[in-house]
Amino acid sequence: TIGMLALDKEGNISGACTTSGLAYKMAGRVGDSPIIGGGLFVDNEIGGAAATGLGEEVLKTVGSFLIVELMRQGKTPQAACEEAIGRIVNKLGKNYKDFQVGYIAVNKQGETGAYSIHEWFSYNVYKDKKNQNIKSDYFNK
Ligand code: ASP
Repeated sequence: TIGMLALDKEGNISGACTTSGLAYKMAGRVGDSPIIGGGLFVDNEIGGAAATGLGEEVLKTVGSFLIVELMRQGKTPQAACEEAIGRIVNKLGKNYKDFQVGYIAVNKQGETGAYSIHEWFSYNVYKDKKNQNIKSDYFNK
């Protein structure tokens, strides 16, 4: 999945995602990316979030909606992404080692965050005319 979140100079937030779906998926499978609240969610009062990885696990926890709701309750984008990954890991116990999920998030103040289950998840932030590639922190150390 490619997930994108943007904050314009008036402070409006928008988001988009595109996916090829999962490799070797069942015919007719619908992943998380086209489901608002699953693979993508934006509330212009609060912030936005997007997911990549095994969509079934994102959907079971309504991950992107969860992250925006956690930010509404006062969590930073980083803390919200970490809690959403925690929900997946706690639900599935040791099976989380078999798949990857990663989240990105931004809030109305322009703060960003990201977290994934495993290593090799990075994201780009374009801010103040600078493009920065950030290697995400991750759960399975
Ligand atoms: N999230 C996608 C899905 O499960 C897979 C991906 O492109 O990351 O359909």
